[in-house]
Amino acid sequence: MAVVCPECDNPISVDADEVEEGETVLCDECGLELEVVSVDPIELAPIEAEGYDDEEAAPIDDEDED
Ligand SMILES: [Zn+2]
Repeated sequence: MAVVCPECDNPISVDADEVEEGETVLCDECGLELEVVSVDPIELAPIEAEGYDDEEAAPIDDEDED
């Protein structure tokens, strides 16, 4: 059974026999985390980052060179 990613419309195949409610699946196209909110029928909900705040940009750590 495929569920379409709400972010990028990529079909994510989820086997109802392999997931449980509350589990997290990843969209392999955009990396969005989706929580399994229902398995019959399969229903996924995007997990929103805790304390998400788009007014305050996260500080970019630019120390990636060695
Ligand atoms: Zn996606």
